[in-house]
Amino acid sequence: MDKSRELFAQAQKLMPGGVNSPVRAFRSVGGTAVYPKKGLGAHFVDEDGREFLDYCMSWGPLILGHAHPGVIERVREAAGSGLSFGMPCRGEIELSQRVLDDLPDDYRVRFVSSGTEAVMTAIRLARGVTQRPVVAKFTGCYHGHADFLLVQAGSGLATFGTASSAGVPESMVQDMLVLRLDDMEAAEAALRKVGERLAAVVIEAIPANNGLLVQKPEFLAMLRKVTQDLGAMIVSDEVLTGYRVGEPHISLRNGLFPDLITLGKVVGGGMPVGAVVGPAKTMNSLAPDGPVYQAGTLSGNPIGMAAGAATLDIFRGTNGQEILESRGQQLQAGFDEIVGRLSLPARMQRAGSIFWIALECTELPRCAEAIAASSMEKYRTIHRKMLDEGIYFAPSGYEVGFLSTAHTAEDVARTLCALDGALRAAWA
Ligand code: PMP
Repeated sequence: MDKSRELFAQAQKLMPGGVNSPVRAFRSVGGTAVYPKKGLGAHFVDEDGREFLDYCMSWGPLILGHAHPGVIERVREAAGSGLSFGMPCRGEIELSQRVLDDLPDDYRVRFVSSGTEAVMTAIRLARGVTQRPVVAKFTGCYHGHADFLLVQAGSGLATFGTASSAGVPESMVQDMLVLRLDDMEAAEAALRKVGERLAAVVIEAIPANNGLLVQKPEFLAMLRKVTQDLGAMIVSDEVLTGYRVGEPHISLRNGLFPDLITLGKVVGGGMPVGAVVGPAKTMNSLAPDGPVYQAGTLSGNPIGMAAGAATLDIFRGTNGQEILESRGQQLQAGFDEIVGRLSLPARMQRAGSIFWIALECTELPRCAEAIAASSMEKYRTIHRKMLDEGIYFAPSGYEVGFLSTAHTAEDVARTLCALDGALRAAWA
């Protein structure tokens, strides 16, 4: 604990909040950020030599666990030949082929360096192709930190947005419509009212950045129907869900049938990679073939491409989806048993290898507004107790947890044992 504390104190003098991404500062759970020193499979050891079982997995990318030898070997090999050239490289072709293998034949891919850039690019493309300005998004969905996506609902239901961060002028969000998840009638009416000014609806394929808010299929089907009627596009943000929920792209099956898909996290295997995929007729509007500009100094760099390709190869070659589903089911069944036995108002929501613990509720919430703010107090206790047991859950009750293929049945059993105690403590 001493070294982590020391490092965190030092970091606060060097970086705002001591971090390079806000949730890492542990503000919503309290205490000191943990400083990892070495990752191995489902575990990491921190600077103080404490071992943790990790359910953060770098917020999703590490689908094979930390430092998978097969991934590290391919990254080492690539790094030995040069980190970046700013030229096309073989690695881009290799990762493109793997990504496009799971998609319809006419699809193309553009690699970028983060999920934020992927969504930013997809939306610019949708606006460029449709030549329309308005984009609709949903409260509780996160799509990265591009200015116009840092927007929240204005007053009243389904309104044009107001900026949710200082430094974002209202002019940046004036063409952003903010809707509520799970509210069929309000969303449909608001979209139809925008009519032919609507370029796109952007939605997480399964909203997973403010709890895990699995939508009813009818809601997604309504979005598809309305956008089709209006000649607008759907951008399905699969940065978080991609490859993680039983198949590579859930939005091709859950009723969204998007026009563009954004990827990140797993596709880069732990390196900074994002991607936009879609049919050639749309993708070819990107520069240099088309008028929609997009570029990147480090886009498609050999290291990111190697990490992504190695991760996808190993995941596929080792029945990754089945392992994840089996661990996910074990975690879910064990959790359900505990809350049933203890009669606690808590539920686990799960989509493949992604899980979220909903507290102070008997029914799973389907929109951000339905999450009880009081549940975050309970989460603080759970988080602290789990950490004491050497189990690292996300340092915020709104964040989901991630399994990897390195998590064993024994790891999950140990987690359930600790959760039993942590849940009891939260309601003690
Ligand atoms: N979209 C979704 C659905 C995400 O979950 C995230 C990150 N959590 C992003 C976009 C942004 O990705 P990045 O942090 O790589 O910019």
